[in-house]
Amino acid sequence: MKYRHIGILSAMPEEIGTILEDLEDIKKVNFGDLNIYSGKWVNKNNQYIYLSIAFSGWGKVSAARATTRLIGNNYKNIPVELILFTGVAGSAQDDINQWDIVLGKCLIQHDMDATPLFDKLVIPPLKQKELIPNENILEHLFKRLTNNDLISKYSKYGKVKKGIIASGDQFVSDQESFMKILSNIPNLSAIEMEGAAFAQVSIQEEIPWLVIRVISDNANEGSEEEFSEFVKTYKKWSHQLITVLVESFI
Ligand code: SAH
Repeated sequence: MKYRHIGILSAMPEEIGTILEDLEDIKKVNFGDLNIYSGKWVNKNNQYIYLSIAFSGWGKVSAARATTRLIGNNYKNIPVELILFTGVAGSAQDDINQWDIVLGKCLIQHDMDATPLFDKLVIPPLKQKELIPNENILEHLFKRLTNNDLISKYSKYGKVKKGIIASGDQFVSDQESFMKILSNIPNLSAIEMEGAAFAQVSIQEEIPWLVIRVISDNANEGSEEEFSEFVKTYKKWSHQLITVLVESFI
């Protein structure tokens, strides 16, 4: 599965920032406070791919805005052909732990509620609540991540799982908010604040997309502390994950 130019977004620099050091011939464009960095990424066999990278900031509006800008970005006259959102998320199930990787097989905006005009969680312009990525891309990355020693052996990463990811404008750190979300989406794997906004824009703009999340906390009372500690360590390890992601599409 080959692409010439892929876009990678995260909410915070800690989640993908170190990959910028690997890029050659960097071009930076900015739209107000949003910077997009594009460059050439070369692997050990001298194959290359163009990457465009940006940090959206937290939340659905920030994610939607950065996604739209990234999709429209060109580098050496090649448009972005695939976009990925990656970063950390809270776990929604007992058997999904810190350092596990969740690939979004379905994204849902857990705070969308246009009842009684639409059923709960349904996104009005799409008339659907479940945002589903291209299955071939999902399976391709799932195989690459599960068969890769950099992820499965020589790293802190845990299980790789395909799951439902819910997004909303809320950092979930108490049992009541968590249970409310889970009662609407019982099979939920992970909770975060951007993925389903990114997915909605990608679907509306007709570009292939995927969300990849690493579990940082349990979306409960200890979340804030776990989250802050985790993000510091994660900065070092995100490079490994991004390298495997990028290598999968060369
Ligand atoms: N309050 C925290 C930051 C929260 S922002 C602090 O003081 O540092 C959380 C970021 O991580 C968002 O980009 C979101 O996508 C992700 N995230 C991780 N755990 C989350 C959780 N439990 N609930 C919602 N988002 C979470």
